[in-house]
Amino acid sequence: MTLHHLTNADLHCHSTVSDGGLAPALLAERAKAGGVELWALTDHDEIGGIAEARAAAQRLGMGFLSGVEISVSFAGQVVHIVGLGFDETDAELVQGLRATRGGRGPRAQEMAAGLAQVGIHGAYEGALRFVGNPELISRTHFARWLVEAGHCRDIAEVFRKYLTEGKPGYVPHRWAQLGDALRWIHGAGGIAVIAHPARYRFTPTEEYALFSEFKQHGGRGVEVITGSHSSAEAVRYAEIAQEFDLLASRGSDFHAPEESRVELGSLPPLPGTLSPVWLALADRVQ
Ligand code: AMP
Ligand code: MN
Ligand code: MN
Ligand code: MN
Repeated sequence: MTLHHLTNADLHCHSTVSDGGLAPALLAERAKAGGVELWALTDHDEIGGIAEARAAAQRLGMGFLSGVEISVSFAGQVVHIVGLGFDETDAELVQGLRATRGGRGPRAQEMAAGLAQVGIHGAYEGALRFVGNPELISRTHFARWLVEAGHCRDIAEVFRKYLTEGKPGYVPHRWAQLGDALRWIHGAGGIAVIAHPARYRFTPTEEYALFSEFKQHGGRGVEVITGSHSSAEAVRYAEIAQEFDLLASRGSDFHAPEESRVELGSLPPLPGTLSPVWLALADRVQ
């Protein structure tokens, strides 16, 4: 396929293989229906959905890039790094992601213990009922159960009351190191992208450190147009992309029909001044 600046690329979303609500093939159909021309599935710390997603994309005549969203600890916060266009059979990548996922089970048990202390019992078993992949239990699965069990009205309220720093179900966790995540992505031939940069609560100094270290480790892209950014935030990170000479990415971060505000393929285009990351990935499209 021929790629251009205005290609409808959606390079960030989640399936039931992580914390999304649709199986990879159904997500592919939804992306196609939403007008997506180039698609990547980017499950959290997981590449197990890629084969199904790619087969579905090919059947639907939609360009496909392998993808993942890696959880990284940086300056006391969690930063998400999206990898695109890599070989998902690369041994070091496979092993690194497996190790990153490995902490989730014990963390989930600790989260449940914290919730039990405020009188919410059975949260681990409850969350497990929403899990599509036993290796990938996330805060989202707890949130869905807490809503279903009537503890909160919606997922936003769950995060506010229970699952963010300082709240009873929050457990600080050590994720991958920035340098490791980038080495896994690059070693497998992919391009690394900082996901939804406006979502972090860094000081200007910490944010500068993130972008500088990301570049030093060979990182090349940043999400500018994402379902997680307001239009003002998109403008701000368009400027930062230029300042740091980074390629720009675009992705809905779609999770589930009932939960996601932004539909696959429906975001505005990238500002014309930016270089789309997909033009650098043209030879990886499958
Ligand atoms: P985890 O990787 O287990 O820490 O879960 C992180 C996921 O929780 C993110 O990828 C989002 O899908 C979801 N999430 C985080 N914060 C919020 C929030 N404030 N509202 C709704 N979902 C959130
Ligand atoms: Mn998520
Ligand atoms: Mn994210
Ligand atoms: Mn995401």
